[in-house]
Amino acid sequence: MKVLVTGGTGYIGSHTCIQMIASGVTPVILDNLYNSKALVLDRIEEVTGTRPEFYQGDIRDSAILETIFAQHRIDAVIHFAGLKAVGESVEKPLMYYENNVAGTLNLVQAMERAGVTRLIFSSSATVYGDPASVPIRENFPTSATNPYGRSKLMVEECLSDFHKANPEWSITLLRYFNPVGAHKSGRLGEDPQGIPNNLLPFVAQVAVGRREKLGVFGNDYPTPDGTGVRDYIHVVDLADGHLAALNKVSQKAGLHIFNLGTGHGNSVLEMVAAFEQAAQKPIPYQILPRRPGDIAECWADPSYAEQQLGWKAQRSLQEMVEDTWRWQEMNPQGYQD
Ligand code: NAD
Ligand code: UDP
Repeated sequence: MKVLVTGGTGYIGSHTCIQMIASGVTPVILDNLYNSKALVLDRIEEVTGTRPEFYQGDIRDSAILETIFAQHRIDAVIHFAGLKAVGESVEKPLMYYENNVAGTLNLVQAMERAGVTRLIFSSSATVYGDPASVPIRENFPTSATNPYGRSKLMVEECLSDFHKANPEWSITLLRYFNPVGAHKSGRLGEDPQGIPNNLLPFVAQVAVGRREKLGVFGNDYPTPDGTGVRDYIHVVDLADGHLAALNKVSQKAGLHIFNLGTGHGNSVLEMVAAFEQAAQKPIPYQILPRRPGDIAECWADPSYAEQQLGWKAQRSLQEMVEDTWRWQEMNPQGYQD
């Protein structure tokens, strides 16, 4: 099977390409390298022995999509390419709608022209907004609190309408909870540009000495220790979830929606304590006010994915923090050409 992977040199895409190659699926990567480095291709080759075919280009460029579909018999598309910084999306909403929404529409139109009718889309638990209860099931109401989240929701809605008109397509929406961790080799991991927005990359940069201390955004939430609770999932488990979707449902016509999470929540302070254990050093932190738009707690009910895909997250919290630390310690400045 040959799969076009948009955003394949990014954090989740690169780990998914590795799992694909290991199971005999051939990835063809399209990425504009806006938020990733070509060096990732060397690292994928290093750990798998296979260098994926790579096109540097944009999902908004119809010509490059046409070239790829003409040069390869693509069976399915896994669509990771997108912008993902919530704060930036508030500052530059049009950039987010243009890239994430218009980009996806352009991709689907190119697929239609090429007769490729199987799509797996990277969505997010952010589409649940502030859920009325946890754990979150796929049939919970959706809403958005910022342009990033709205761009994911808009794409979900566009794809759902498109599917009604084209029921022979297989469209899978994967709603990720909080991806963390890195490849066991320590050669691939998350490499945020600038100040990390997400918790674990920030903690890892404190541990490696790039930042002085973590700011904990609020300790007055209605949670056991007052800090925010999230469903952290190892990126390799998440990658395996894509393979399960590819093998199980992308063969079947339908609009398929799955949560990819572990079903367990951990607080900010629990994550800090786990990281301190892995890195064998203290992580200094200070309590700051709540971050606007944050919710108290969010974790998945992953049972539908287990039932339908035969997929379940396997890796423990300890592995998540140990693998993150190995990557950060071996690559203190991230990927460097
Ligand atoms: P990432 O930034 O590491 O990877 C995204 C890749 O897409 C990057 O390599 C970037 O260069 C590329 N890209 C962006 N716009 C493009 C365009 N117009 N054309 C071609 N390439 C483009 O992000 P990630 O963490 O790997 O996330 C992958 C997907 O999963 C994104 O769609 C993101 O919104 C979604 N997601 C991520 C998280 C998370 O916490 N990491 C959570 C939920 C959903
Ligand atoms: N968080 C924090 N300090 C940081 C980054 C995040 O205290 O520097 C908290 C945040 O308030 C939330 C949790 O860590 O409770 C996870 O945040 P992240 O941005 O990683 O994921 P999201 O909020 O998108 O689920």
